[in-house]
Amino acid sequence: MEESRRGHFLTLSSGSRPEIYTASAPADDARILIVGAGLAGLFLALRLAPRPCTIISPAPLGQAASSAWAQGGLAAALHPEDTPEQHAADTVIAGAGLVDPAIARLIAEDGPTRVRDLIELGVPFDRTPDGQLALSLEAAHSHPRVARVAGDLAGKAIMGALTAAVKAASHIRIIEHARAVGLLQDDNGRIAGAILKDAHGRTSTFTSPETILCTGGSGGLFRVTTNPPQARGDALAMAWSLGAVIADPEFVQFHPTAMDVGLDPSPLATEALRGEGAILVGADGDPFMARYHEQAELAPRDEVARAIHSELSDGRAVFLDTRAALGDQIKDHFPTVFAACMAAGIDPRHDTIPVAPAMHYHMGGILSDTWGLSSLNGLSVCGECASTGAHGANRLASNSLLEAVVMAARIADRLRESDLKHAGDSRGELPADIPEDALQALRRHMAANCGVVRDAPGLTEVLSQIDQLEQQHGPARTLVSARLIAAAALARKESRGGHFRSDYPAPQETPTRTFVSRDRLKTPVLEATS
Ligand SMILES: Cc1cc2nc3c(=O)[nH]c(=O)nc-3n(C[C@H](O)[C@H](O)[C@H](O)COP(=O)(O)OP(=O)(O)OC[C@H]3O[C@@H](n4cnc5c(N)ncnc54)[C@H](O)[C@@H]3O)c2cc1C
Repeated sequence: MEESRRGHFLTLSSGSRPEIYTASAPADDARILIVGAGLAGLFLALRLAPRPCTIISPAPLGQAASSAWAQGGLAAALHPEDTPEQHAADTVIAGAGLVDPAIARLIAEDGPTRVRDLIELGVPFDRTPDGQLALSLEAAHSHPRVARVAGDLAGKAIMGALTAAVKAASHIRIIEHARAVGLLQDDNGRIAGAILKDAHGRTSTFTSPETILCTGGSGGLFRVTTNPPQARGDALAMAWSLGAVIADPEFVQFHPTAMDVGLDPSPLATEALRGEGAILVGADGDPFMARYHEQAELAPRDEVARAIHSELSDGRAVFLDTRAALGDQIKDHFPTVFAACMAAGIDPRHDTIPVAPAMHYHMGGILSDTWGLSSLNGLSVCGECASTGAHGANRLASNSLLEAVVMAARIADRLRESDLKHAGDSRGELPADIPEDALQALRRHMAANCGVVRDAPGLTEVLSQIDQLEQQHGPARTLVSARLIAAAALARKESRGGHFRSDYPAPQETPTRTFVSRDRLKTPVLEATS
């Protein structure tokens, strides 16, 4: 791992009394373990061919993954007037000072090739009448760059094609209805596989010379989220508890326009609706965004989220009005949004859609280098649970699907032919899960005190609630991950990108990343490493 990155080290402590598991790896154990079956996990499994691998999915393959819900699409510099340099530059600007320019460049450069890979796998990206890819322009992109499928069905189509390919691939073994609940580590500190729990609560160990975490985001730790409930930051907790470095956990992106229709998770009303001219209005029908930002509805995502948060905090409901901009076309151009509205009893051709900000994407994650290596031997990370430095303090829209496929291909290139070291006898710790009522309490505290607008009293309160829940239930994965986010948010005394502190509303002069590790320091103090 590179140790020369500019940043802080922050250490958190946790008093654990977990169950202990032991395992022995057979000498011929060469099967790679992929934990999580979203875009990162599926694409990685396919690219590893012919190397044998096993992929773990908590649900039937292809389901319970944010990837399947993606509405916008995948960004890549495919337009004749666009270049990877411009894509990388837009990524760096969006990330508010914390994007690693080298990784932004790498992802932008590999993007077009990876889109072509997806086309080969059967993804039917939208085409122009002359057969070129139809690319749409999204906020903060300087060129049309987003490859879509049938309007807002990109995630469903991509995951459909990949799920079929994985099921047909002879080198991939699939374990469905199981989740990883802990990692195994040998005496030399090498990660040696995972402890799995099936749908009936039965545990087992799975040893492997290389484990790759692809478990997605952390939205499920917040009461209001667009993520599937399986996205609860499991990978962060599992990796952190064995000493992995976690980067920038405080940086969470809140989507401004999740539908506020009493559903959990909240259905998303994609940003593209505002791109097409939909406006944000109050209950009286009056637009309000111009009061907050000169770009009004097209202001950056975090600015729009804070404006809506401010209206809601002052007791004024907020609605998205698509009627004048889209009229009847919403049915065909945004079928996912239309169906979600109709299911909630709202006909967007005639009614406005109630919206609220929701936890949408985790920029932070397990620190990863440009080849997907974490700071622990034998452990790689890919997709939203990783922090490569590509998203900084604020992700550029449609860059996350791109990052997942680019990094999956790089990890596969590294591991396909490599002579993997076998781990020795290993052991793993398994803290208890927290009961459902405690999880819901945690989610409410995180949404209320670690959300769109944060301050020291609120963050201190949520940390004290986590302490209390931990005293009652032990260091459950959800509590560990939530603590990482809240403690780093308290430690970052500035506002930057998706992290807004009302008590520190300005950015500090020098942007620094946060690195959190169980082992680096004894006390939760910050130390510049640059
Ligand atoms: C509604 C919505 C719309 C979005 N739209 C876009 C878009 O248009 N463009 C874009 O670039 N990004 C978009 N994003 C973000 C993007 O979808 C995600 O960042 C990306 O899909 C992450 O891929 P992933 O493979 O890392 O995670 P996921 O696709 O979430 O997959 C994670 C997998 O891990 C499994 N898992 C979780 N915990 C465990 C465990 N403990 N053990 C085993 N398995 C586990 C999950 O069930 C799932 O199978 C959107 C996100 C949402 C929620």
